[in-house]
Amino acid sequence: MSKELIRLSELTMAFDGEVVLDSINLVINDKEFLTLLGPSGCGKTTTLRIIGGFVTPASGDVYFDGVRINDVPPYKRTVNTVFQKYALFPHLNVFENVAFGLKINRHEGKKLSKQEISSRVLEMLEIVSLKGFEYRDVSSLSGGQQQRVAIARALVNKPKVLLLDEPLGALDMRLRKDMQNELKRIHEAMGITFIYVTHDQEEALAMSDTVVVMDAGKIQQIGTPEQIYNEPVNAFVADFIGESNIVDGTMISDGIVEIFGRKFKCLDTGFAENAPVDVVIRPEDVDIVDVKDGMLTGTVTNITFKGVHYDVIVDFKGFKWLIQTTDLVTVGAYIGIKIDPDGIHIMSKSDYSGKF
Ligand code: ATP
Repeated sequence: MSKELIRLSELTMAFDGEVVLDSINLVINDKEFLTLLGPSGCGKTTTLRIIGGFVTPASGDVYFDGVRINDVPPYKRTVNTVFQKYALFPHLNVFENVAFGLKINRHEGKKLSKQEISSRVLEMLEIVSLKGFEYRDVSSLSGGQQQRVAIARALVNKPKVLLLDEPLGALDMRLRKDMQNELKRIHEAMGITFIYVTHDQEEALAMSDTVVVMDAGKIQQIGTPEQIYNEPVNAFVADFIGESNIVDGTMISDGIVEIFGRKFKCLDTGFAENAPVDVVIRPEDVDIVDVKDGMLTGTVTNITFKGVHYDVIVDFKGFKWLIQTTDLVTVGAYIGIKIDPDGIHIMSKSDYSGKF
């Protein structure tokens, strides 16, 4: 899985003088499932459209298999796209919609026989679990089934890369979860590269080999889902991926950080003494304890039942701690807070203000 397929080098893009992509450098490997993840407007779709050839970057280069393809038009790239809006032809049935994908197959440059068309369409319908639906009207299908038709149509001419731009955005939550598993299965069955765009961090973590977290036109972090979740490189990533408590801190010495005027043990980090830092603490690493055992104390202001745990908000001098716990507490209770030293993550101070 480590052979390079696509390389984006120093990509920059601006619309109306506003920079929307700033020095994007990214390598995408053959057969990888890579997700561009970030808040609305961070530049995910623009990056995808540059790879597809629909947008020309202001500067920087795109390489495919080591060859610069900046000037190669979309139809000559072995790349197809699936959009959130499936754009199926309502007057054509499922078979005809998928077969249409072969008509726009310009990279093979040869005409296919009727038999070949039929066998390739049926093969794709089997892969997207729509065998037997060939003669159904697309308008009679559910949203999830229509999206499978769109995926089959994009895959039928065997691209090397499938670009997926929020393809599950129009589906309800249950169907989204089912389709996430389906897409993973289809990715494995096809053995090609998928580049996926979403603003949904759970979706990105669930599906991807590699997650690229973007904010304000810049790549913030590239890593496996586990790396992104467990070792966020800055407060933005920590806050965007799951929920976090982000506190201003000062390093006292290596292994000791001061927050809210108290000293806390943390992992050795190599930050200089007195360095101002962002301290990121996941809600599951904060425990509610007796007041006498607490490193900090505060008052419970909110409790939300989340199924496996409660989200508890504890007010400490105006700072709202989010704590995930299975302990039963009540609103108004005065409680102690204890933080696991392994759960105290020290990061370089950024100007991220906790809003994305
Ligand atoms: P979303 O999740 O909302 O689709 P995104 O991360 O995919 O967001 P982009 O669609 O890449 O973000 O847009 C990045 C920025 O570029 C936005 O501010 C957007 O308004 C702007 N932009 C994108 N395309 C154009 C265009 N054709 N003309 C002008 N501005 C554009």
